[in-house]
Amino acid sequence: MNEHMVERKPNQLALALNQRTDADQKSLWAALEMFANCGDQVSDLQAFRQQHPRFFPVMFYDHGELLLKAGKDNFFNWRKRLLRSVWEGRDPEGKRLAVLLGTEEASNYGFKGGDFQAEEAEFVAISSDALRLGETLTEGDITYASDRLFPARVNPDWQAGSFRYKPTIDFQAAVYALMRESWRARVCPICRRFIIASKPANIYCSRDCAIAARQKRDLDYWRSEGRTLRLKRTKAARKKSGKKK
Ligand SMILES: [Zn+2]
Repeated sequence: MNEHMVERKPNQLALALNQRTDADQKSLWAALEMFANCGDQVSDLQAFRQQHPRFFPVMFYDHGELLLKAGKDNFFNWRKRLLRSVWEGRDPEGKRLAVLLGTEEASNYGFKGGDFQAEEAEFVAISSDALRLGETLTEGDITYASDRLFPARVNPDWQAGSFRYKPTIDFQAAVYALMRESWRARVCPICRRFIIASKPANIYCSRDCAIAARQKRDLDYWRSEGRTLRLKRTKAARKKSGKKK
């Protein structure tokens, strides 16, 4: 099963990164956006998996389901939390991003201390829960389904004079593509939905939220500026009626 995943990847990723068409990138981003907004329940994971069965390896989904059904934290949600931190700009040192891209192991950062300690503690707890619950799972399986699982490569390129990032799974390809255009990663100020903007002017997730924002602006204006205006009008009216007398 795992071998199959590995075999399948090069073609799809070649498509995703090298001969990437707009449609390929759009579908990667659509999956990433859905993942970022995914709920925490078993049914949320299952719905995501059904729509994007190859975004993560099979084992990764299986693990998430196993732990969720037991009411435990899991790598599906853990990874989602890391992504949200990056998306919201709460990853100044790029530690979470490095783990998401697979260029760094989660445990490396935890042992080094710093602001990744909470995530590392969760990581360790999830790993031990997975070992305890998954009777048929080996430590290797856990490792595969955890974060050490998808080590990506960063290869130096002498000719190009730069490094080339080589993702292992579609999720990494999607995160990498978004990192290269990180201005697109936004959070709707009205409903807090995570969005990948198609153009710089896109601020809201939907027409409904844009309308709600406009109504809020109008209301705020009415409350502040409107009050001053109304006061002026009342004063002017009083003056006028005063003169008449
Ligand atoms: Zn919204």
